[in-house]
Amino acid sequence: MDLPRPLSHSSISMYSECPLKYKLKYVDKIPEKPKRFFSFGQSVHLALEFFYGGKTPPAPSLEELLQSLKANWVSVGYRDKAEEAEYFRQGKDILTRYHRKHAGDFALPLKVEYEFEMTVDGVPVTGKVDRVDRLEDGRLSVLDYKTGKALAVDRIETDAQLTMYQLACEACLAAEVGRLTFYHLPLLKPHSVGRRPESQVDALRRKIVETAAAIVAERFEPKPSENSCRWCDYKPYCPIFAKPAAAAAAPSPDGDLAALIDRYGDMMASAAEAEREAAQVKAAILAILRSKGYVRAFGARYEIQRSGTEKTEFPESNKKKVIRLLKDAGLYERVQAPSGPLIQKLLADPGTDPELRAVLRGLGSRVEPCDLKVTPL
Ligand code: SF4
Repeated sequence: MDLPRPLSHSSISMYSECPLKYKLKYVDKIPEKPKRFFSFGQSVHLALEFFYGGKTPPAPSLEELLQSLKANWVSVGYRDKAEEAEYFRQGKDILTRYHRKHAGDFALPLKVEYEFEMTVDGVPVTGKVDRVDRLEDGRLSVLDYKTGKALAVDRIETDAQLTMYQLACEACLAAEVGRLTFYHLPLLKPHSVGRRPESQVDALRRKIVETAAAIVAERFEPKPSENSCRWCDYKPYCPIFAKPAAAAAAPSPDGDLAALIDRYGDMMASAAEAEREAAQVKAAILAILRSKGYVRAFGARYEIQRSGTEKTEFPESNKKKVIRLLKDAGLYERVQAPSGPLIQKLLADPGTDPELRAVLRGLGSRVEPCDLKVTPL
C-alpha cells in the first residue's frame, strides 16, 4: 500500500506506540473520541496564534486576547458544562498571566503556527510549529507550547518533536536553528536547549524512513502496553481486547469473573451518567416549580412533589459563634450526636487511647471492606 498521508511527529509516535492503533486511525480513518486536554490545548494555542498573528506591534490588549479565547474555544470532550467552565477559567488565568509577562517584551515572530511540508529521503512529512523567532545572530528559535502537566527536565534533550522541528525549519526556512524550546504555559516556564547534534537528526531521519517502510509493508500488529491501552479508543476493534467467543455470546452471571467485572463497570458508568443527567433535570424542575410557586406537578407517568424541610446553612466563619450561643443557652448537648464516620476516624487514629478503642470495638461488629473501585480500561 501507499502511505495513507504524509508522516508527522504524532503519526510516527503513534506507529511506535502501537502499529494497529496507527492503522485504525490513519488507514481505516476511525476517529478517536474528543478529549478535553486536546480541546483545551487547541483553544489556548488558537488564542496565542491571535496574540502573535498581527501584522505590526503592539501586542493585542488583554481584553482582545481573552475575547479570542472565547471566540476560538473548542467545546468538545468535556465531561459536562461544569468541567468545561473550570477549564475555561484555567485558560483565562494562563493567558492573563502570559499577557502580564510578555506584552511588554512583545515582538512579532518570524512564523506563527508554521505549517511545513518536506520530504526526508523520499518520505513526505508535514507538521506545524507553534512559533519561530529570529535570534540576534540570525539563527532560528523554535518554540512549542505545552498546556499539560509539568515537563520532565530531561525530555527536552531528547524529544523527537523538537528534533523534527529543527529538521523541518532548517530544510524549509534555509537557516540554522540555534535554540529549541518547550514553553510550559501553566507555569509560564520556557525550557530551552541548543541545536540538536547531527547524530540525533540522522537517527530521526532513519526512524522516518523505517516507519514509512513498515506502513507501506502493512505491518500493523497490536503492541499492547498498560499506558497505551488504558486510554485507547480502539479497544472494540482490537484483537487483544476481543472477548472469548463464548463469553461474548452469553456472559454467565455467576461463573465468569471477567464478564461480571465488565457488566458491573458498565452498570456503574451508566448509573453515574444517569445520576449526572438526573441532577440537571431535577434542577430544571425545581426552578420551574419555584418560579410558578407550585409544590406539586404531574408528567404523563409520574407525579412530583417538593419535599423536605427548609434549613439554615451556617458558613464555617460563623461556626464558633453558633456553638457559643447554643452553649450559653444550655442547648449544645441536644445538637451533639456521635456520627458514624467520626467514630471510625477515632478508631483508626493511633493516638486514640488503645483501651477505649478496644471497648468501642467490642460494642460494635466487624464489617469487612466491601467497596469496589471501578476504572474503565
Ligand atoms: S487497545 Fe492497545 S493493543 Fe489494541 S490498538 Fe489500542 S493500544 Fe493497540
